[in-house]
Amino acid sequence: MSIPLPADCGSILISEESIQERITTLASQISEHYEKVLKDGEALVLVPILTGSYMFAADLSRKLTIPNTVDFLALSSYRGGTRSTGEVKILMDTRDSVWDKHVLILEDIVDSGYTLQFLARHFSTRNPRSLEFCVLLTAPKQKRKVEGYDNVKWTGFHIGEKFVVGYGLDCAGLYRHLPYIAELTQTAIDKFTK
Ligand code: 5GP
Repeated sequence: MSIPLPADCGSILISEESIQERITTLASQISEHYEKVLKDGEALVLVPILTGSYMFAADLSRKLTIPNTVDFLALSSYRGGTRSTGEVKILMDTRDSVWDKHVLILEDIVDSGYTLQFLARHFSTRNPRSLEFCVLLTAPKQKRKVEGYDNVKWTGFHIGEKFVVGYGLDCAGLYRHLPYIAELTQTAIDKFTK
């Protein structure tokens, strides 16, 4: 049974079926890439960025055909509203060292670019053997506040200038459970940012 669209959401932007279809394609591209990169006995380290990418990571990892491990990293930058503060903080670091490992960061959305910039800098000081980014959603380029961090190897969908929820993405902690991506109405945005 599909979950009805909450009143705070204007419309479904990306359906559950489209998300799953795209993730299947991404998983096969990622598997194909790392089949050539990983040596015998090696595994890809998936680093999902919490909280927004937990659903994406769960679905993507189940579709990978290469050996992989999962090590979460929790960040904060939105403080429950709908606009980035620009200040990215680590709330929970990875459990294991990524030194000499092949690391794939899984992120829900690139918007201002602050988070990607922070992650690229953070991981480059930790000497992974390789570092790549896979992002479910990309907001239009004109929303970037920092340049030079569009180094995303795999992208799920390009979206317009909208604030979206669902499939892991929230507004004030709500709507992460929706199996689809929906656009928040302006009334809801105003209500939550008051
Ligand atoms: P950035 O640092 O690129 O501005 O944004 C990264 C983070 O901001 C994402 O991981 C996500 O948590 C949050 N974010 C950016 N745009 C949206 C959006 O449209 N909806 C939601 N729910 N979160 C967003």
